[in-house]
Amino acid sequence: MTELNNRFHTIIDNIRVAENQAGMIPNSVQLLAVSKTQPAEVIRQAAEAGQRYFGENYLQEALIKINSLKDLKIEWHFIGPIQSNKTKDIAANFDWVQTVDRLKIAQRLDNQRPSSRGKLNICIQVNIDNESSKSGIAATELFELAKQISQLNNLQLRGLMIIPTHTDDPLQQQRSFHLAHMLFKQLAEIYPSIDTLSMGMSGDMAMAIAEGSTMVRIGTAIFGIRHT
Ligand SMILES: *Cc1c(COP(=O)(O)O)cnc(C)c1O
Repeated sequence: MTELNNRFHTIIDNIRVAENQAGMIPNSVQLLAVSKTQPAEVIRQAAEAGQRYFGENYLQEALIKINSLKDLKIEWHFIGPIQSNKTKDIAANFDWVQTVDRLKIAQRLDNQRPSSRGKLNICIQVNIDNESSKSGIAATELFELAKQISQLNNLQLRGLMIIPTHTDDPLQQQRSFHLAHMLFKQLAEIYPSIDTLSMGMSGDMAMAIAEGSTMVRIGTAIFGIRHT
């Protein structure tokens, strides 16, 4: 087994253990492999090991990889900041966009989604810790944006995505995850299409799952340290 295979299976095992400890249904937490800066051959290796969902942050880099891996059944998630001039290529090439935080971007994705590709799955990114420099909508504005997005025909509102403040204080981290989970549950009561709470990365995966994450986004723990 290659090193990538080992790391991949370790992560899967860790997710299953965390699900179990959190009392969640087995296999209810999805693994999004964050493959930014990784070459297409490495993604192919991970796909051959059984991984199906991949997350990319940088559009130009992603388009090259998506194109060269067309023979594989991969579901691509866009997880980087979105500028309006990028929405057309994102709408045409991705299956999910997890970083929608304003109506204008949602409207453009809706207009530009090719009908042949079906609905584009959307997570709203919430700035859960109210950081001034961070992308994401304020929790107080979330419900209005969700309502507007739910009315766009070519988008399917699937849930929320959060990146909490980097902190060494586990209690603060837990509070952020907990708040995100509360917002997620409230929204899911209004919109039946909502089933995804994307939170947790390599360093905080177990706590995120304990607090109700349904999708963890893992980069370095699968692929190793990024060199760029
Ligand atoms: C890079 C990235 C990740 C993965 O981070 P790791 O620490 O490498 O697991 C998750 N989510 C987003 C939005 C990222 O940009």
